[in-house]
Amino acid sequence: MEGALTARDRVGIQDFVLLDTHTSETAFLGNLKKRFSEDLIYTYIGTLLVSVNPYKELDIYSKKQMDIYMGVNFFELPPHIYALADNAYHTMMAEANNHFILISGESGAGKTEASKKILQYYAVSCPSTTLLDSVRDRMLVSNPVLEAFGNAKTLKNDNSSRFGKYMDIQFDIQGDAVGGHILSYLLEKSRVVHQNHGERNFHIFYQLVEGGEEDLLHQLGLESNCQHYSYLVQDECANVTSINDKNDWKTVRNALSVIDFDESDIQHLFGIIASVLHLGNVQFEADSKGYATLNKNTELRWVSTLLGINVQVLQEGLTYRKIEAKTDEVLSPFTVDHAIYARNALAKAIYGRTFTWLVNKINDSMENKEPSRKTVIGLLDIYGFEVFYVNSFEQFCINYCNEKLQQLFIQLTLKSEQEEYEAEGIGWEPVQFFNNKIICDLVEEKHRGIISVLDEECLRPGEATDFTFLEKLEEKMGSHPHFITHKLSDKKIRKTLDRGDFRLLHYAGEVTYGVVGFIDKNNDMLYRNIKYVMRQSKNAIVRECFASTESDSRRRPETVASQFKSSLLGLTDILMSKEPWYVRCLKSNESKQPGRFDDVLVRHQVKYLGLMEHLRVRRAGFAYRRRYELFLQRYKPLCPATWPHWRGVAAEGVEVLVQHLGYLPDEYKMGRTKIFIRHPRTLFATEDAFEV
Ligand code: ATP
Ligand code: MG
Repeated sequence: MEGALTARDRVGIQDFVLLDTHTSETAFLGNLKKRFSEDLIYTYIGTLLVSVNPYKELDIYSKKQMDIYMGVNFFELPPHIYALADNAYHTMMAEANNHFILISGESGAGKTEASKKILQYYAVSCPSTTLLDSVRDRMLVSNPVLEAFGNAKTLKNDNSSRFGKYMDIQFDIQGDAVGGHILSYLLEKSRVVHQNHGERNFHIFYQLVEGGEEDLLHQLGLESNCQHYSYLVQDECANVTSINDKNDWKTVRNALSVIDFDESDIQHLFGIIASVLHLGNVQFEADSKGYATLNKNTELRWVSTLLGINVQVLQEGLTYRKIEAKTDEVLSPFTVDHAIYARNALAKAIYGRTFTWLVNKINDSMENKEPSRKTVIGLLDIYGFEVFYVNSFEQFCINYCNEKLQQLFIQLTLKSEQEEYEAEGIGWEPVQFFNNKIICDLVEEKHRGIISVLDEECLRPGEATDFTFLEKLEEKMGSHPHFITHKLSDKKIRKTLDRGDFRLLHYAGEVTYGVVGFIDKNNDMLYRNIKYVMRQSKNAIVRECFASTESDSRRRPETVASQFKSSLLGLTDILMSKEPWYVRCLKSNESKQPGRFDDVLVRHQVKYLGLMEHLRVRRAGFAYRRRYELFLQRYKPLCPATWPHWRGVAAEGVEVLVQHLGYLPDEYKMGRTKIFIRHPRTLFATEDAFEV
């Protein structure tokens, strides 16, 4: 017994449900920390996996490790992301239903890494036929491509996802991974034209400029020096030690050929990336009347060549706006500021639409056209909760998304728990959660939420400003417990807020948003005539991207926030119809240092991710439940009547077994298919019985 305790002391407890004594936060953190110091980054709460970012390569992701976890029961090996992936897979196969793995945690906590490990596990360990290998390869290489175009260095993470990604991995009836489909959510396009202090643009720009072959750069009119491009040097942090743009370029370049990009696609794609860089260098000057002109148009010529658009037409599109009067069209010239705005809007639109095109193209290449029945495992890896010194519309959307996912987690954990007790005929004892629905409502409620107020202001062009938006918010939200502004707060808090700020008390903490830019970013306006100009492009991708009927429509396009809100609703529906698995990623420290465990930081995440509540729910009714067959399989050596074989019904075998082990009647309940054990210590003692 003592020996067992010593071992446990060293590596901690691998499932928090088994944490013997009180479920205090301190004990919880102590266990996490102990394990972390032994490089054991994974711990369970029942079937939920907690992962702490080690910020160093661990030797736990080899093919050998994958083999160890394949088909083995959750409980029998140390916690691992492979165990969760494997369990989801086997449950899907056994029950022939759909599953999803929700990976959450703040920016830099390890979500994208976790999702890659899961994908690799499926790609390597599922049964294989040569025919399908190509689908697998495409699924795997879609990652570096999407990361190149959709990830960037931020202050929180050198490889931060700036878009949300939901990927269905489809399996056929034999369990082969046969296809994939990606849904992407709200790419942070504003990064194309502006990056905050210490951050970079999307990786692909640097990869092309640093890694692109001489011939290619020559064709694209690019210098092999990031400093030359104003969209890349706003913060002089083009080079980051953790990033090797040259190598990444090679990976992306190879990946593109794996996913069916032919040479012309590739040329067009890089033509677009280069044209965005050239566009960023287009400078305007004011003429004698104060209107924008182009004094030197070398850069514009490159844009014109690369996009295959007449340079005159392009120039007009960037310096004039077409106003449609009753019978006529009038050209209204731009001021310099206005022209810069139009140029940036175009750069964002080209990049954003190309990203969507890319996702579609990847989907085509991963599509499985067989009509046979398939089940799926969905992987959700979305940008994590983030708080910067300056937070804007983008953080507002990202943090709203995280609120929605937390809400989903709450609903599903409570729901599934209740349903399980019901299905098994066991009484239910509810546990109180902090329910963040109040914050979701604050943001998204029809007619009353922040998004509605913002949309209303966006409908008053010329009159509304970011500040009238703030005033409207103050009127509507006034006394809401999760909303404050300078005007609404008392003296002490007022000092911490600017007049142009509003602060939300998110489930994960307070975030102060500056309103400047909200109206503009939500409108995401692109003048109609520049859309027409783009449709003339000889670059096939650009033409396709701007060819949608939307460019003809005179109806007001949906605002960015509203679109995002509907896409999140859609996502919630997709997830609600599947069986959930959770990976909760925790950031170990803010400075990305290997092996450093910052107690305060981790404690904060444990709190807001609701891990303690989850644990309490797990323990409240019955901390552990296990199918009779599995329970028997695991513990049958502990009883002469069940060892080596129990020939009768599994439930009866379990009854005999637990009687022999001395379980008291209050300690367990027999459900329809599972045994439910009230206290972890009971199971704990049973586990110890092995060691005596
Ligand atoms: P964001 O919300 O910003 O996209 P994220 O949660 O997706 O953040 P990741 O990009 O997965 O964060 O992880 C950030 C970095 O942490 C990785 O680039 C890697 O250096 C390190 N890291 C994360 N998980 C692991 C792991 N399991 N092993 C080793 N290093 C890791
Ligand atoms: Mg990520």
